Amino acid sequence: MTVQICSCEGLDPKCKKCFGSGYMNTEFPEKSIKATPKKANVKHESFLPDDLHALSKKEVENIVPKIMDSLDVKSKKQMQLLHSIPFNTTTFRRDFKAKFELLQKIEDEKQALRKELDVIAAALSTSKYSIEFNFGHFLSDKVIDVTSNRELKTLLRAYKKLKK
Ligand SMILES: [Zn+2]
Repeated sequence: MTVQICSCEGLDPKCKKCFGSGYMNTEFPEKSIKATPKKANVKHESFLPDDLHALSKKEVENIVPKIMDSLDVKSKKQMQLLHSIPFNTTTFRRDFKAKFELLQKIEDEKQALRKELDVIAAALSTSKYSIEFNFGHFLSDKVIDVTSNRELKTLLRAYKKLKK
């Protein structure tokens, strides 16, 4: 039995395939799982329209909260994953491989989303307009090296301190 990352990445608590955990067993007897899209078809979610430059300042500004919300939701999921990994064991990397894969996948998406924010900031500053991004989650503005145990533990500690 192998554990696979669900297409919803655990971001949908009502997901019928993974029930919000973000993982599903390939044994799962539902046919729809066989219809998972090929890797080449997987596209990062994007909030930027092709005609960004044709939009008004207000329309461009309106994209910002959507990106921020998505970053916050993904960050929350990352933090849940971090909390669910027993870092005090010696085999957690091997035992929780799927969790680290999911962490990395979400991280890649977050970095792509932040690049879109950069594009928006650049688009708006040409019209002499300054914009500030106020992220709603501790991890939303952080670039995370998912391969670094030390970095992950440091982030967890900092987050716990923040929550006190
Ligand atoms: Zn799912």
